[in-house]
Amino acid sequence: MNIGGTTKSHAKTALIFGVSGQDGAYLARHLLGKGCTVHGTSRDREMSSFANLRRLGIVDRVILHSAGLTDFRSVLEVINRVRPAEIYNLASQASVGLSFDQPVETLNSTINSTINILEAIRFLGLDTRFYNASSSECFGNTSAPADEAVPFHPRSPYGVGKAAAFWAVANYREAYGLFACSGILFNHESPLRPVRYVTQKIIRGAADIAERKAEVLELGDLSIARDWGWAPEYVDAMARMLAHDEPEDFVIATGEAHRLDAFVAQAFAYFGLDWRQHVRSNTALLRPSDILLSVGNPEKAKRLLGWSAERRMAEVVGGLLDAEMALRVAG
Ligand code: NDP
Repeated sequence: MNIGGTTKSHAKTALIFGVSGQDGAYLARHLLGKGCTVHGTSRDREMSSFANLRRLGIVDRVILHSAGLTDFRSVLEVINRVRPAEIYNLASQASVGLSFDQPVETLNSTINSTINILEAIRFLGLDTRFYNASSSECFGNTSAPADEAVPFHPRSPYGVGKAAAFWAVANYREAYGLFACSGILFNHESPLRPVRYVTQKIIRGAADIAERKAEVLELGDLSIARDWGWAPEYVDAMARMLAHDEPEDFVIATGEAHRLDAFVAQAFAYFGLDWRQHVRSNTALLRPSDILLSVGNPEKAKRLLGWSAERRMAEVVGGLLDAEMALRVAG
């Protein structure tokens, strides 16, 4: 493991807040592949296993720091030590479901961490480019594929926090001239997603039922529809935003919506099983307020960044199941 320190290399230096998460790990790999020196933070680097960085085989290539994002001094110190060309803020309480149980923590951490980074860049007078992880949850229900002009109407504490952070980024860009932008990313999945997310719950549930380790999979509302993409492709879009001439916000999505029961059917079909015989909808798993349809319009990203999603829902499910079964075979 690579701990602390300043950078002596002349390669572009990037600092990723939240490097231990799904997107942080894939982004670190992406930037290392481009020759960048990559620093990353965890709230406590001594306690984090950095399992995702290990799984991608890059834990020794990322320079790791501890940083408490709601503590301005901590954020200031790490940014001052690294003085990066690019900062990516991917750290947050990222579960919509958990945000209903911990709304205050979710709102405080999402908003304050973003403002602390913006303020540190401004205070130090750096020309660092800043990417902030915003979310499709800001839109709430979408009646048609949402683009950057669609007004926000979040339906969870998570979405409210992300919307507030989005406007903080826009304000620092407009008021102080920072190169700061938000990626409004729709759901993106990978084998690095924890099992608390419904997609991994479905993947592992279907595999357990196929292996006769379980008989039933309980889920919430099966009629909701989402725009699911592949996480390694989405981190490429983040890097492209910071390489763009102007700081702008972008919707990153596949442009296709699929119902949750279609995702479930695809997963069970992988094993030749009929999902209807194994899946039950449990009202206890419903959220206080959910989004029925969430779909994005990535046309601006295609036009200005040359980015578009390659994997759609069926390939996402196939990729997740291939990885899950490979893990099970490896033991
Ligand atoms: P993860 O949950 O995998 O990673 C987020 C990281 O943030 C964790 O590894 C953790 O690092 C840190 N973290 C967790 N809770 C807190 C907290 N309360 N305060 C500060 N840091 C915290 O998320 P993803 O990689 O999937 O997502 C990255 C970002 O993109 C997040 O901001 C997420 O909200 C956003 N996003 C994700 C989408 C998706 O589909 N994946 C869609 C749209 C937006 P540690 O424990 O090491 O400190």
